[in-house]
Amino acid sequence: MPYVAAIDQGTTSTRCMIFDHSGRVVSVDQKEHEQIFPKAGWVEHDPKEVWSNTREVAAGALAKADLHASDIVAVGITNQRETAVVWDRTTGEPVYNAIVWQDTRTDRICAELEALGGGQERYRAKTGLPLATYFSGPKVRWILDNVEGAREKAEAGDLVFGNMDTWVLWNMTGGVDGGVHATDPTNASRTLLMDLDTLSWDAEIAKDMGIPLSMLPEIRSSSEEYGKVRERGALAGVPIAGILGDQQAATFGQACLSPGEAKNTYGTGNFVLLNTGTEKVLSENGLLTTVCYKIGERDTVYALEGSIAVTGSLVQWLRDNLGMIGSAAEIEEHARSVEDNGGCYFVPAFSGLFAPYWRSDARGAIVGLTRFVNKGHLARAVLEATAFQSREVIEAMNADSGVPLKSLKVDGGMVVNELLMQFQADILGVPVIRPVVAETTALGAAYAAGLAVGFWAGEEDIRQNWAQDKQWDPAMAESTRTEQYQNWKRAVTKTFDWVQ
Ligand code: ADP
Repeated sequence: MPYVAAIDQGTTSTRCMIFDHSGRVVSVDQKEHEQIFPKAGWVEHDPKEVWSNTREVAAGALAKADLHASDIVAVGITNQRETAVVWDRTTGEPVYNAIVWQDTRTDRICAELEALGGGQERYRAKTGLPLATYFSGPKVRWILDNVEGAREKAEAGDLVFGNMDTWVLWNMTGGVDGGVHATDPTNASRTLLMDLDTLSWDAEIAKDMGIPLSMLPEIRSSSEEYGKVRERGALAGVPIAGILGDQQAATFGQACLSPGEAKNTYGTGNFVLLNTGTEKVLSENGLLTTVCYKIGERDTVYALEGSIAVTGSLVQWLRDNLGMIGSAAEIEEHARSVEDNGGCYFVPAFSGLFAPYWRSDARGAIVGLTRFVNKGHLARAVLEATAFQSREVIEAMNADSGVPLKSLKVDGGMVVNELLMQFQADILGVPVIRPVVAETTALGAAYAAGLAVGFWAGEEDIRQNWAQDKQWDPAMAESTRTEQYQNWKRAVTKTFDWVQ
């Protein structure tokens, strides 16, 4: 029986998952990579470690299912978006670590670009994005400005840029020996360098940012054959046929294939995406306009996105920085030990605040502390922060689209947390629905690849494969919901203007 593989190059780990025709997981292998924090606000990954993990998990996933490359009809790639790698095309060596999406070191570069005119909205009309440290373009500029000799080499055409999808694709297809230097429009739409209408690099913006166009990968569609796996790894010879940024992949894997359908992914950060169809909706409420997917030659489908920087990573912080819990899963029993948050609110503005605020000057705050607050309340405040932030972006989405969301499909590592799911339904006032396959990110990339090679016939197959696991209905009194959300909003204002 044939299968499709997906490489999911995430923020904390790299996974390889193998799916059958019904979209069920046949096997998984996963490996975490080091999070490098050289300074406050800086986050890096070692691209070579990520590439070596990619090879390892691909071999691991095949071995676990006792499968071989000949059983796999296509591979899809999905990835942490915006994270930027610059490498030498002749040696294959990165000139610097990958600068991760959460990294805020480019705040000065962003401020300088804002000052050229137009402020934070300078590139919004073309790219759908505000100027923010989140996106790749300013990160590439930082590398060219700060790594000795990088600018000269880039101008000579020796250096290339890629997000993680491109880095993995280039290496899988042969690296220095003819590697394919390409990306898809979902990833390209997160660089601040791509025109959303033409799906091509914008020369004017690249010039503003001082980035030579020769560094940029070719923008292909999200579902087509880019090349075959050339390196002598486990997947040798298999066509690579799908690329989607992780959040767009999850949207695809959740079968949000019609305008008005939305999902919320609970991982390191949270990302709500609303399919707006072939129409590009520019936000007036702090959301991003982004490419949702482009399947082969078909029309581009766009999305509105609410990106939240810190959600699951706040749980990690509680585990790793405070040692308050031994594992992420333990947070739920602490939270269950109390009835409510005891008046405590935790705004995790560790990387500033993303949607709907886009405040790089914000930093985290815990407010409402009294002698009464204990570990359980803090655990609850940590989980509730994810739900409150999600409500903020969904309200923005309702305002932009004019159509209130009726229910929310969820996925990602945190959705095993039942207390959080119930609180999310309570604070939103709409049902929260979890699918059977919660690994929608990898699944979405597998779908993109499988569609390209005819393993799945079309979107109808994807819809049919989607099945509900569990639904949580709102059970909170309206007055409590309103009061708690107002408290949260007040707490958020306490984080503003911290960085001066
Ligand atoms: P990513 O793809 O962004 O690397 P995942 O989707 O794998 O992330 O989700 C991992 C995140 O989920 C981690 O930040 C972790 O802290 C959080 N997490 C995992 N299990 C739980 C749980 N039971 N309760 C709350 N958070 C959890």
